[in-house]
Amino acid sequence: MRIVTGTISHETNVLSNIKTDLEEFRRRRLLYGDELFERFDGTRTPAGGIIEGCKLNGFELIPTVFASATPSGTVTAEAFDTLLGDILDGVRDAGDYDAAVLHLHGAGVSEEYPDIEGKVLSEMRKLVGRKPLVATFDLHANYTREMVENADLLIGYDTYPHVDGYERGVEAVNLTRRMLEGTLKPSKAFTQPPMLPALQVQFTGRHPMKRLIEEAHRMEETPGVETITVAAGFPWSDIPEAGMSFIVTTDDDQKLADSLAEELHDLAWTMRRDFLVKPTPVREALRHVMKAEGGPLVLADIGDNPGGGAPEDGTVVLGTILEEGLKGGVVAVIWDPEAVEKAVQAGVGETVQLSLGGHTDEMHGEPLSVTGRVKTVTDGKFVNEGPMGTGSESDMGPTMVMEIGGNDVIVTTKRLQPLDLQLYRSQGIDPTGKRFIVVKSSVHYRASHEPIAKEVIELDTPGLTSPRLAGFGFKNIRRPIFPLDVETLGITELKSMEDE
Ligand SMILES: [Zn+2]
Repeated sequence: MRIVTGTISHETNVLSNIKTDLEEFRRRRLLYGDELFERFDGTRTPAGGIIEGCKLNGFELIPTVFASATPSGTVTAEAFDTLLGDILDGVRDAGDYDAAVLHLHGAGVSEEYPDIEGKVLSEMRKLVGRKPLVATFDLHANYTREMVENADLLIGYDTYPHVDGYERGVEAVNLTRRMLEGTLKPSKAFTQPPMLPALQVQFTGRHPMKRLIEEAHRMEETPGVETITVAAGFPWSDIPEAGMSFIVTTDDDQKLADSLAEELHDLAWTMRRDFLVKPTPVREALRHVMKAEGGPLVLADIGDNPGGGAPEDGTVVLGTILEEGLKGGVVAVIWDPEAVEKAVQAGVGETVQLSLGGHTDEMHGEPLSVTGRVKTVTDGKFVNEGPMGTGSESDMGPTMVMEIGGNDVIVTTKRLQPLDLQLYRSQGIDPTGKRFIVVKSSVHYRASHEPIAKEVIELDTPGLTSPRLAGFGFKNIRRPIFPLDVETLGITELKSMEDE
């Protein structure tokens, strides 16, 4: 059997002023044909899982395009049209094939299409006809009717931090084989409770997401149930369908699929109060660090997470650290290509004066005027040791570590969410020896940082990924929706954090 594959992956934060053009895809990853094997064979990633799944089933895999950009603003029409055209051309050129297994994100928005995955799948459906069309998705996918109707199987991650992309890739190929053998005829039920959870409460390691995933796994044990996807959604795509979804897939049993989807829908709604978020004010957290014995305390700058489209050049936390005179920490990271350039010119060991960060927009703090010593300059590349994306390469671009006020500040040329401890070690920093670690990340950092953290604190920082969703003025998300419209939803007893 021959399987075609392709990827367009982007989590679009429509409020970001970083334009997502082809260059943004090239900056992170844009691969054609067999380059997919060179980059992903043997990695614990969704693409690695699709490759391995084909090997295990004795299938030949034909890669077309793999395009992934760091979360940022709306994808330009040119970029999306080019990438979609390249995938479709690749499929046309593949000759005889038996099925398509794609890896998509699920929260992409282009200038032309509010739902780029729906567009990819509907165009693919025209090409593949009645052959199986299967896709894996991120846990932050905003599923739409168009996606669900055009794909035979939609398989989302069960984890956030996303540590099961590889397993979902293998699963997608295994279920495709069943369709090809004629032993699986998918029936799907798709439901969306009126819920828009912030990222922090999408963490699958604790209640209430943990409960939903456990319930889905329990249901998957039911005879006839093939796969269940629980998606928490991505608010900043600002499309009507943004938010929570459930997709239950059975083998030719629509009634069973419908009733289980309804059950998950009701369970989520019953637990809605548990999806409210209460982060800690920055100064309060830093004073707690001062009094704490031992370390490291991990402080999550959840408002400035590049993994959700924030610029990663926010200065609020570093500024407050310097005001409070706190020492012995590491800040991961501040994106500032110009600052790195200046440090490279000055040279390692030199003291430089910089206007650091705060350059992208008005939401993430002012540029900080700092003086510090350039400790190291590297190419910013490292291989992830996991548990996320184990074996795949990360690239921060030319990167410097600057000592500012007794703290190590990692300054990068590319935006990259700090989620792997190799990020520090590749810069000569031992994270376990630090008093505190600031990470610009919502949840992903937990997979690698929790095992070394004395304590984890989520900081109430401003920014494009802040959990204070009511402040963003979303225009297109379906209403009413919890927690944005607690009044209209008839749950006036609730005090969401936005009401305070
Ligand atoms: Zn995600």
